[in-house]
Amino acid sequence: MMPKHNFCAGPAKLPDVVFQQASKAVVNYNESGLSILEISHRSNAFTVIIEEARALVLELLGLNTKDYVALFLHGGASAQFHQIPFNFLSKRAGYLNTGVWSQKAIHEARFFGEIVDLGSSNDQHFSYIPEKIIQNRIDLDYIHYTSNNTIYGTQIKNFPEQKVPVVVDMSSDIFSRSLDFSQFQLIYAGAQKNIGAAGTTLVIINRKAFSQANRKIPSLLNYDYLIQKESLANTPTVFSIYVSLLNLRWLKAQGGIKSVEKRNEVKANLLYNYLDASNLFTPLVKKNSRSNMNITFALNKPDLTSDFDRFLEHHNIIGLKGHRSVGDYRASLYNALELDSVKVLVSCLQQFEENYE
Ligand code: PMP
Repeated sequence: MMPKHNFCAGPAKLPDVVFQQASKAVVNYNESGLSILEISHRSNAFTVIIEEARALVLELLGLNTKDYVALFLHGGASAQFHQIPFNFLSKRAGYLNTGVWSQKAIHEARFFGEIVDLGSSNDQHFSYIPEKIIQNRIDLDYIHYTSNNTIYGTQIKNFPEQKVPVVVDMSSDIFSRSLDFSQFQLIYAGAQKNIGAAGTTLVIINRKAFSQANRKIPSLLNYDYLIQKESLANTPTVFSIYVSLLNLRWLKAQGGIKSVEKRNEVKANLLYNYLDASNLFTPLVKKNSRSNMNITFALNKPDLTSDFDRFLEHHNIIGLKGHRSVGDYRASLYNALELDSVKVLVSCLQQFEENYE
C-alpha cells in the first residue's frame, strides 16, 4: 500500500515506532503474557508506566518537581474549560479571545464569575494574535491563553508578562517548541495531537500559585484531590497514557523539544514559503502570528475545489480539509509528521497549480 500523508488536526499522526510498540503491548505487554488492555490500573506494571510518564512530562518541559505536578485526567481539554474556573475563579479572570477554542473556554468560565476580555482578533476572522494584550492587572484570579489556535492556525509567539497566575491551553502545540514553561502556572492539553492517543488530558499545575475559590467542588473536578491521588482517583485511561509514555520516550530520544522544534520550523517554512509565492493558494494568517503546527490556506479559485480534493486523495494526502466551522484548508504538521510528507504536499500543490495555470 502506498504510504498515506496524514495532515489531520487530531487525532493525528504519531511516530511509526510508537504505533508498533503500542500494538505489541495490546497483544502481549512486556512479555508478561497479558495485554496492556487487561492489566489493573493499580498493578505495579501500570504504576511504573504512569509515574514514568508524569516525570517525563516535567523533565521534557524543564519544570521543577518541587512546584509542578503532571496529571493525566479525563474529559479532554474541553473539561478543563470548566474545571479551571470551578477551582480558581472567585471573582474575575482575564481571557484572550483568539477564536473558537478560547470562546468555548470563556463560555464555560462565565458560569463561575466575571470574564475580562484581554484582547480579541474577532475583527479579522481571528487571522492574527492581538498585539495589544491587557497586562499587569492584579484584580484577576488568573489569565487564560490558547497558545495555538488549531482552527485558524494562529500561535502566540511572546507571552506578555502578567502579575497573576497564567493558564494556557496548549492542546495543539505542547512539546513542539521551546519556551520558558515556568511562566505558566497551569498548562493543559488533550493528548490526541503531540502527546499520544485520544483519551487522556494532560494537566500540569503549580498548585501553590492559585487561591482556591470558595465553593464546594466535586472530588473528580478538584485539583487538590486529584493531586493527592496522584492521577489515580479512579480508573485512568490506561492505554492512552501508555501511548503517551511511548511518544514522550520517542521525543526524549529525538533530543527533546529543542530538536523537534528545529524540524518543525523547517517543515512549516517549506509550506509557508510555497504558499506565499503561490498564485493559486493564499495563507490565511498574518506573518507574525503564524502557527508552525496548523497551517491554514485558501484555494483562490473555489470552482476548483472538487478537482483539488480528488487530486489530494489520489496522492494519498489526507486530513487537509479546514475545520468544519471555517472551511478552506489546513495542514497540521505535528511533531511526528515527517519532513518527507511536507515535501510531497508542496510538490503536489505545485503540480496542481501548474496544471491549472
Ligand atoms: N483546545 C484546543 C486548542 C484544541 O485544538 C482542542 C481540540 N482540537 C480543544 C481545546 C478541545 O480538545 P478536546 O477535544 O480534547 O476536548
